[in-house]
Amino acid sequence: MLTSIVGINWGDEGKGRMVDLLSEQEDIVCRYQGGNNAGHTVVNERGTFILNLLPSGILRPEVVNIMGNGMVIDIKHLCGEIEKLRAGGIDISPANLKVSDRAIICMPYNVAQDCLEEERLADAKYGSTRRGIAPIYGDKYMKKGIRMGDLLQPEAIGDELKNILEWKNLTIEKVYGADPFTYEDMLAYLKDYGAPLKDYICDVGEYLEDAIAAGKRVMFEAQLGALRDIDFGIYPYTSSSSTIAAYGPIGAGVPGHKLDRVIGIMKAYSTCVGEGPFTAEMFGDEAEELRKAGGEYGAATGRPRRVGGFDVVASRYGVRVQGATEIAVTKLDILSYLDNIPVVVSYDVNGKTVDRFPTGKALADAKPNVEYLDGWGEDITSCRKFEDLPENAQKYVKYLENAVGAPVTYVSVGAEREQIIVM
Ligand code: GDP
Repeated sequence: MLTSIVGINWGDEGKGRMVDLLSEQEDIVCRYQGGNNAGHTVVNERGTFILNLLPSGILRPEVVNIMGNGMVIDIKHLCGEIEKLRAGGIDISPANLKVSDRAIICMPYNVAQDCLEEERLADAKYGSTRRGIAPIYGDKYMKKGIRMGDLLQPEAIGDELKNILEWKNLTIEKVYGADPFTYEDMLAYLKDYGAPLKDYICDVGEYLEDAIAAGKRVMFEAQLGALRDIDFGIYPYTSSSSTIAAYGPIGAGVPGHKLDRVIGIMKAYSTCVGEGPFTAEMFGDEAEELRKAGGEYGAATGRPRRVGGFDVVASRYGVRVQGATEIAVTKLDILSYLDNIPVVVSYDVNGKTVDRFPTGKALADAKPNVEYLDGWGEDITSCRKFEDLPENAQKYVKYLENAVGAPVTYVSVGAEREQIIVM
């Protein structure tokens, strides 16, 4: 059984929380794209954990966690994340963590390049998280990447690293006028942060292939949402990787397998970190209230998120490109303070009403057509059955289900593991 958990919106939908909940039934949880540019927050009985690189299943001792070939891995960050979790009492060993030998290492010069480029762009910046993700995916496709498997024989990295650095320093020095990265420093970096990771590195595709043949349950955990996908998102304000469910088996190492179940995580309202078109955006006090109610500050960066009402146009598109077979609605409890809940039902693009998610200039020009649904005005965090929800909350969920065209199977009413309604 292959299940994928993906974001329907702009990311931060609460995927980490849903993976934490659903990983109970899984044998294996895989990350298949991205790096430490986003954070999953998982709250459970042991505390609150922010995971940037490690799959969320790491918090369950019996789950095997895979970091796939589609990822870009900052090895210093990974070492730090492992140490922090260990300090929090989480066991991490080669038995429950396996890192693809094909995954690409995100290097310090990639992080530097990301920062230098955002500074060069100044006001026209993309809103990068400055973790080096775009530059390292660029390097990957330029075939100038060092892979996790190379850490197994650091003595053999030498020539490759020299060639890459010669090339990279041309950009760092001649384009940005910054200091070059030395071969000695970078080799030492790879050795220092590679050594503690060696035992985790293997051919995860082989491992997964055997596990699937043995009938194990595998879950693919995406970072970010549909609208950040490099192909289908709000390009160029996207991530640099594929956040789409269909990429899961590829980025995890089993490209020949098909998904059985795609659970789309969809927030009861809209949030968006960083730059780019965000049609549903609210401003002023209305925005500040929602941001505060939802605690909408980036897990990885602490940046305040842009917020807005639920966006039917964008979410329906998200459901389609993800191929979601079912939906988990998250953070419904956050809307309890509102008497009237704004929902973006269509866009106005230069005088025309549009209900298909546009791209490019049309998206940039789109204005929201907002309608209001009745609020429920009471705390719903202790509801555990759909019938427990106030009538207007039930109506809101049914409205969303109808609007996006996929069945809602979970409604999350709080960050805690048990604050969930299973439909
Ligand atoms: P992810 O990257 O998609 O996992 O999103 P985040 O890490 O930004 O998670 C969203 C935040 O909302 C986290 O702090 C979660 O603990 C929290 N959260 C998730 N689901 C719910 C919910 O239903 N209600 C509330 N109040 N908080 C939630």
